[in-house]
Amino acid sequence: MTTTVFLSRPQCDVWQRIGDWLAGHQRQIRWVQWSVVLVYAVLLVVPVLLPMPGNTAHIWDDFTRFAQFVFWGIWWPMVLLATALVGRVWCGLLCPEGAISEFSSRHGRGGGIPRWFKWNGWPTIAFAGTTLYGQMVSVYQYPKPALLVLGGSTLAAAVVGYLYGKEKRVWCRYLCPVGGVFGLLAKLAPLHFRVDQEIWQQSQRVGPKPGVVNCAPLVPLKTMRGASDCHMCGRCSGFRGAIRLARRSPSHEIVHVAGEHPKPWETVLIVFGLMGVAVGAFHWTASPWFNATKLWAAERLVESSVLWPLEIFPPWWVLTNYPERSDVLTLLDGAILVFYVLATALAVGFAITLLLSIATLCLGRWNPGRFHHLAQTLIPIASAGVFLGLSAFSLAQLRMDGIDLPWVDYARVAMLVLASGWSGVLSWRVSGLYCRGKGRRLMALASMGFAIATANTGWFLLFWGW
Ligand code: SF4
Repeated sequence: MTTTVFLSRPQCDVWQRIGDWLAGHQRQIRWVQWSVVLVYAVLLVVPVLLPMPGNTAHIWDDFTRFAQFVFWGIWWPMVLLATALVGRVWCGLLCPEGAISEFSSRHGRGGGIPRWFKWNGWPTIAFAGTTLYGQMVSVYQYPKPALLVLGGSTLAAAVVGYLYGKEKRVWCRYLCPVGGVFGLLAKLAPLHFRVDQEIWQQSQRVGPKPGVVNCAPLVPLKTMRGASDCHMCGRCSGFRGAIRLARRSPSHEIVHVAGEHPKPWETVLIVFGLMGVAVGAFHWTASPWFNATKLWAAERLVESSVLWPLEIFPPWWVLTNYPERSDVLTLLDGAILVFYVLATALAVGFAITLLLSIATLCLGRWNPGRFHHLAQTLIPIASAGVFLGLSAFSLAQLRMDGIDLPWVDYARVAMLVLASGWSGVLSWRVSGLYCRGKGRRLMALASMGFAIATANTGWFLLFWGW
């Protein structure tokens, strides 16, 4: 329950009114959330009960194809885009997993949060693990793996909610496999809930004692400086008269906030996760290097009369296994897939780490904080790449149904150019916080330019090279 304390508050604008509207309509928001839960359950469960779609099935006449398109073709890329545009509105207002987790926490045991949940590496590990596993079982193509991966995650969210916290989203805060990615994207959002420290302190001295805001993702309201952890639920809007929804520059958080508390695991997620694991996961089906490696390994095995890796077909929940669709992975295929994705992640990740290190040293003596701050400037290009990779699946689905969008290549080039430019500008601005010498800053920018070019090379190969 929130008691709003109005002090010397800035004039009310449209964004502030939207925030206050959210705060006052939590009941209605919960209805919307439960409607999304219903749609989510139908899209996830019904396709498993239906026969596999034939080769002539379309998005508009086959429910399984429709559900696939909605999940992976629209929902996933659009949630990423929306998070970069308006913050984690999806998490706070619509996400079925968040709603279920909070609901079960409201009626659960309310236990203390285990210390190991709070390890900062979980979002990165969970993202890499689910991305890799999703490729092994073809989660985008078949309903059973989708139910296993998404349903498993929802079940885990419900169980964690039931066991820990009271009316909190412990799962979302610490363990959600996409929470880390959403947290990075939200840093680019031109909207956030801003805390006015002066008004907050003033409210502590005068006025009635305010009530308590239930911030489900456990954001420390008083010290909140960015949009990364906030789910944009609006509950704290107007709290102490100091919090309001407000516009900001999309570059503000990365330049002025991200460097305050270096987060090494976020660097790993950007450099090895979004720019590495994700690239490998989108690449392998189109990559001639993947095929060449597989052929080479198969020949060596045959020469050595070791045939079992070519003859074992693990079940669908280990590796893709749909003989009726002529889509089956052998043990060797699976091993090469995992190798390819991890090798891509390591090769790209270490190359970019090296370039980031050079940029860091160009600006002065080694400083880990500066290194991690510079890594944050790569968020635009890393996110744009992942969005393009995901939307490639949407476009492939549309193409299968005879819908071709001739302007797509131009849109891809424009997005990569804009994101690269944005990352470049952020690098320049961040370098200015650490060094005044233009020469040193230009050398750092050149190194960052090579890092941005490395990211672009992966997408160039996928869309135009192979
Ligand atoms: S800080 Fe918490 S309560 Fe406030 S909008 Fe964000 S998630 Fe909601």
